[in-house]
Amino acid sequence: MSAIYWTHSSKSYSRQYDVIIIGAGYLGLSTAYWLKKHNPELKVAIIEKDSIGSGASGRNAGFLTKGSLLFYSHLTETWGAEKANLLYEYAQNSINLLSAEFDLVCDSIAAPTAAWTFIRTDAALEKISKIPQGILKDYTEVHLDEAPVRHATPMKKVFTGSGEFSIHPTRLLSLLEKKVKDFGVDFILGAQVLKVNAGSKPEIETSFGNFSCEQLMVCTNGESYLLPELKLDIVPQRAQMLAMKLKTPIYASGLFYDPEARVYFKFDRPGYLLVGGKRLADEANENTISTNVSPKIQEALYQYVTNELNYSGEQLNTWAGTMGFTKNELPYVGKISNFDSCYVAAGFSGHGMGWGFKTAQEMALLLLGKINEPQLVQMTK
Ligand SMILES: Cc1cc2nc3c(=O)[nH]c(=O)nc-3n(C[C@H](O)[C@H](O)[C@H](O)COP(=O)(O)OP(=O)(O)OC[C@H]3O[C@@H](n4cnc5c(N)ncnc54)[C@H](O)[C@@H]3O)c2cc1C
Repeated sequence: MSAIYWTHSSKSYSRQYDVIIIGAGYLGLSTAYWLKKHNPELKVAIIEKDSIGSGASGRNAGFLTKGSLLFYSHLTETWGAEKANLLYEYAQNSINLLSAEFDLVCDSIAAPTAAWTFIRTDAALEKISKIPQGILKDYTEVHLDEAPVRHATPMKKVFTGSGEFSIHPTRLLSLLEKKVKDFGVDFILGAQVLKVNAGSKPEIETSFGNFSCEQLMVCTNGESYLLPELKLDIVPQRAQMLAMKLKTPIYASGLFYDPEARVYFKFDRPGYLLVGGKRLADEANENTISTNVSPKIQEALYQYVTNELNYSGEQLNTWAGTMGFTKNELPYVGKISNFDSCYVAAGFSGHGMGWGFKTAQEMALLLLGKINEPQLVQMTK
C-alpha cells in the first residue's frame, strides 16, 4: 500500500492521540465536531485514505431525509409500531439538530422542503396503512392532480410530509471541515488504515506508519469489510446518480420518492434534475466499492426520466458512490463487541445524511463517558 510523500511532507503529526477517527465522511467529521465541542482539550485526529468527503458523503443525492414513507412500513414490519415510531422521531431529531446547530439556509447549504412518496400498488398502500399514527399524522395525502410531479404510469396515491431539507452535500462537508479544523483536529489524509490492533490502547497500522490512541472511532461505512478484524457485518452497495439538464426550465420543490420503482429524484434548480436509484436493475453487479457507473443502471435512470416523468434533456453528469448496508438496514453504532476502546458508526444503508448528525453527537457523548449507550442501540434491543 502506498502513501505519497508530498501529501505528508510539510506536516508533522503526533503518533499518539486521545481519539482517532477513521474516515473523513459526514460521520467522521460530525463525531470530531461533537467531541471537540464537548471537550476542547481532547487530542483528536481523523485518518482518511483519500480526501475529505471522497466517500458516499460527497457523492450523495443531498436528501437530508428521514426516508420514504414506505421505509417506515419496512421498519414497522421489522421492529413493530412502537419502535418504528421511535426510529422516526430519532431521524427527525437528527435533522432538527443539524439545522439548529448551523445556519444552513443562510450559508446556502440547505433549503427546507417537503418530501413526497408516490405509491403505485394496492400492496404498498396496504403496507402504509400499518404504519403507526405517530408517523402517519405528519403526512398528508394529496390529490394526484395536485402533486408537483406527474408520472406516465398512473399512481395510486401520493403522500407529502415536511421537516426535511434539500442539501448541497459538499458545502455541508466544507462547513464541518472548517469547524473541525478551527477546533484543532488533525487531518491525516491519503493514509489508508490497513489494520487495527484492538486493546486497551488501540494501535492503527496505516500506509503512513502506525498511530495509537486511547479510543478509536470507526466511520468507514461501506468499506468497513476491508478491516476484517473488526468483524463489522456491513455490505458495500454501489448507488448511482444521473444529473440531467432538461430542455425546459421545469422545477418542483421537494424530495421525491418512487420507492416501488426504486428511484428518488429532486430538482437542484430550474431545468436541472438529479435522479438516483435503480440499483436492482443490475443487482448482481452493485455489490461493489467501485465508483465507476454502469451503463445498465444509467440507462434505467435515463429511461425513468424520459418515459416516467416525460422530461427530455441531456445527461450532464453520471456518478456513483458506495453505501454501507447492514442486515436490518439500521446502522451499527456504539462499542464494537469484544474490542476494548473501539467504537463504530457505520452502515447507514442509504440514510446517513438524515440520521447521522445525532448519531455522531451520541457517539461523542459515549466516548466521553457521558452516556452508556446510544439511543439507536437502546431502541432496537
Ligand atoms: C449515490 C448516493 C446517493 C445517496 N443519497 C443519499 C441521500 O440523499 N440522503 C442520505 O441520507 N443518504 C444518502 N446516501 C448515503 C449517505 O451518503 C451515507 O449514508 C453517508 O454519506 C455515510 O457517511 P459516512 O461518513 O458513514 O461514510 P462515507 O462518506 O462513505 O465515509 C467513509 C470514509 O471512510 C474512508 N475510509 C474507508 N475505509 C478506510 C480505511 N481503511 N482507511 C482510511 N479511510 C477509510 C473512506 O475513504 C470515506 O471517506 C447516498 C449514498 C450514495 C452513494
